Amino acid sequence: VTTVGVLGGGQLGRMLALAAAPLGIDVVVVEPGLDPPAAVAAEVIQAPYGDASALAVLAQRCDVVTVELEGVPIEALAWLEDRVPVRPSVAAVAAAQDRLAEKELFAAAGIPTAPWAPGRVTFEGGTIVKARRGGYDGRSQEQAGPGHDLAALLPGLDGGEVISEGVVEFERELSIIAARGVHGETACYPLVENHHTRGILVRTLAPAPGCSAALQAAAEGIAGHFLDATGYIGVVAVELFQTGDDLLANEVAPRVHNSGHWTIEGAVTSQFEQHLRAITGLPLGATNPVGVSAMVNLIGEGVAGAVEVLAVPGAHLHRYGKAPRPGRKVGHVTVVANDDEELAARLAVVERVLS
Ligand code: ATP
Ligand code: MG
Repeated sequence: VTTVGVLGGGQLGRMLALAAAPLGIDVVVVEPGLDPPAAVAAEVIQAPYGDASALAVLAQRCDVVTVELEGVPIEALAWLEDRVPVRPSVAAVAAAQDRLAEKELFAAAGIPTAPWAPGRVTFEGGTIVKARRGGYDGRSQEQAGPGHDLAALLPGLDGGEVISEGVVEFERELSIIAARGVHGETACYPLVENHHTRGILVRTLAPAPGCSAALQAAAEGIAGHFLDATGYIGVVAVELFQTGDDLLANEVAPRVHNSGHWTIEGAVTSQFEQHLRAITGLPLGATNPVGVSAMVNLIGEGVAGAVEVLAVPGAHLHRYGKAPRPGRKVGHVTVVANDDEELAARLAVVERVLS
């Protein structure tokens, strides 16, 4: 039996563990929280991610170790990497943890981005100041319009702890999920279109409507540059801004990603199975979509209507077993249809029922 260790036992760990079962892969997660989402399908070691004895158990029991969040202590991953394969590598996770290192890596790999600079630096047309570490769902970043003073943004952080970016007037946000196996083989999913509300992903359309083959190729090129630059093994998500025919990379997630949840029902191989295939040396799976899909996040207090969506043909409900809290992702719904028209009709019903 292959055993995969995962740092993190949230919903991503849960969906990884659920995908592992049919492959005959056992999953052990390390998670400090009590009764984490992954517990339904994985063995849980309840401990901080950097806990020495938990890491020792992973090193001893696992064939390979991976992460379901980027905010893990790098020393812990490095300690593991000396003892057991860690995929993706410590270097790839470290780069994704620090927005400055990430932007430097993008630049070195020839990946286009918004204009950026370390510290608080004003850009014409507006500036976003982002914490280098720890931000997610649009937290730890603040925006100032042209001519506004940046000193007041993220007041708790000094200049060494932030980077600044010029505000991009993009047409839409896209992302691409790519995978690279142990022999360097790669596979990319189709581009998807992502909609955010107050910095949180609320909806993904898959494949992204109206993408040319050239745009898909450009996105695959960006993902490929990142995979090559880091010798990556596993699934990675690259968030992109589209303006016309141009793509800029916003950030990478060195893991399975919310904008790939649609692949569970909407693609031949789910991103979770793909990640497990990649890191355990199995052949990568086909990434073709099965029809067209939309994924809607269930965020916040209630999941009112969540059960009613099951009456919609092609709708699939995923609940993560998390206590509801404002702004918290507690589940998602994926709607699959045969064509755009059918998808729009089904999605309209789902969103009405959920609202
Ligand atoms: P998440 O964890 O949800 O991916 P995050 O907190 O890591 O988000 P970013 O992805 O960097 O942060 O930014 C969140 C959102 O803010 C982006 O999806 C985009 O809508 C907007 N944004 C970020 N950077 C820029 C930029 N340079 N120009 C315009 N909009 C931006
Ligand atoms: Mg983002």
